[in-house]
Amino acid sequence: YTGKTGGQLFQERMLKMRVKDFQSIPVVIPESASVYDAICSMFLEDVGTLFVVNGRSKLIGIVSRKDLLRASMGKQELEALPVSIIMTRMPNVTMCAPDDSMLEVANKLISKQIDGLPVVKKDSNGEYDVIGRLTKTNITKAFVFMGTEEQAK
Ligand code: ADP
Repeated sequence: YTGKTGGQLFQERMLKMRVKDFQSIPVVIPESASVYDAICSMFLEDVGTLFVVNGRSKLIGIVSRKDLLRASMGKQELEALPVSIIMTRMPNVTMCAPDDSMLEVANKLISKQIDGLPVVKKDSNGEYDVIGRLTKTNITKAFVFMGTEEQAK
């Protein structure tokens, strides 16, 4: 008997669960997209966060539902308003890597008060390629997985 508490076992299990095992497909839009285009993509792709990339497909920003709502409250023409003006831009984007633990990411979501993050890979120029999306839903799925895996055996 190891003498570990339930909490310690839970923590060990959470630390072993990796982003790459739970991540979703990322939805990206080009920086030239308008706020109108972004709203359409968000509905069509059924996501809450869009990742904005430059012409070389490198991450430059992120747009949330509220960013788009805020932009829509103004008197601007949404088709003429570039999404790059309203997005949260690099280096202020919180990201994660495929090998990060789900516990680490859950912590980032809570401390930054955000719904999701891009899963990225750094290239040789120090820029980031978007390879996935990790949201509160993925955390919930990991939670359910952990709670049901013993039964599945
Ligand atoms: P919503 O705005 O729809 O409630 P969020 O809570 O995720 O969604 O976003 C809150 C704010 O934080 C928005 O302005 C958004 O641009 C920004 N944001 C969202 N995700 C991230 C992230 N991964 N890194 C940095 N900023 C983010």
